[in-house]
Amino acid sequence: MKMMTDKNLTKTDLEGWILDFAGQIIEQHLVLSDLDAASGDADHGSNMERGMSALLKSVPDWDEVATPGEFLKEVGLHIVSSVGGSSGALYGTIFLRMARAVGDAPSINAGLLSDAFEAAAQGVAERGKVKQGDKTMFDALAPSVQALKAKLTEKKSLSEALASAAAAAEAGRDATFDMVARKGKSSYARENSRGFIDPGATSVAMLIRSAARTLG
Ligand code: ADP
Ligand code: MG
Repeated sequence: MKMMTDKNLTKTDLEGWILDFAGQIIEQHLVLSDLDAASGDADHGSNMERGMSALLKSVPDWDEVATPGEFLKEVGLHIVSSVGGSSGALYGTIFLRMARAVGDAPSINAGLLSDAFEAAAQGVAERGKVKQGDKTMFDALAPSVQALKAKLTEKKSLSEALASAAAAAEAGRDATFDMVARKGKSSYARENSRGFIDPGATSVAMLIRSAARTLG
């Protein structure tokens, strides 16, 4: 009998995820920029919106026969060249590290997806020189990866594990409210960065919620 966690995701599934995320970003970009206005430079939403609109425009050029890894790499490179800001480099890292982790696998099972998310979080930690509590996107990403791994270890279904990951990302996002920013432009605001939710943690929570909606 096939295990519940043995779902195999294809490149088409990943496309569904990215299209869903891009739609969410475009819809919510003003909210994201407003969050960035509190202690940053008010451009997180417009940075992400520019990148996601460019990505949507590129849909007709997407390689039909790409492997999941090639697709993730394409998305990562696209984001690096179109998003801008710190988040462009860091979101690029998320997808490029995922691409590297899945390698040339023809499809992605739950274990490989979890490895790929873990590699993405590690990539953000390395590139951003960031740890939990610094009030960044990592505060949403790290707990979501921990939740995903924990649920899969308990032999829960991928759908349940991703739902738990999305809830953990949202809790991580909300927990940035009381933190003082130690990285990025918000860190210049020092104590005044407290009392606001981090914009990058907000968009990452959207990314994981999209994954739960489309990949579970
Ligand atoms: P910029 O800071 O260049 O204006 P954005 O406004 O698009 O870029 O993105 C800001 C978000 O990027 C922050 O809310 C935070 O989540 C994330 N961020 C900034 N610097 C870092 C870092 N060193 N490590 C991890 N995330 C970071
Ligand atoms: Mg900004």
